[in-house]
Amino acid sequence: MFFFFAGGLEQQVRQVLISGVGRCINCGSRADLVEYEKVLKLFFVPVWRWPGKEPLLYCDNCRFMFPQSFSLPPPPEKSTSPSPEAISNALRCRFCDRSVEAHFRFCPFCGYEL
Ligand SMILES: [Zn+2]
Ligand SMILES: [Zn+2]
Repeated sequence: MFFFFAGGLEQQVRQVLISGVGRCINCGSRADLVEYEKVLKLFFVPVWRWPGKEPLLYCDNCRFMFPQSFSLPPPPEKSTSPSPEAISNALRCRFCDRSVEAHFRFCPFCGYEL
């Protein structure tokens, strides 16, 4: 009797948790943090599926899945430096025009209410 077993275990992405958090260790493009599930297939029909334990990183480019601890840091973003506006936002006394910390209710220099 000829026995033919066409089954296999596959990992499939269930949903993307955070996109672009890591870099693929295989091809170097952006990888997404995904929730995955394992799917047991028999004759190409899914017969059993159960969720994966931990989120994995998944590369959409080469369809490679790997643990988060293996991932490289994501490519650097250009706009990560803090804006200089935060300093100029400091409160200014409208009577003596000196800069006062924003949580002060009265100007420490001239005593006027801010
Ligand atoms: Zn890849
Ligand atoms: Zn003042």
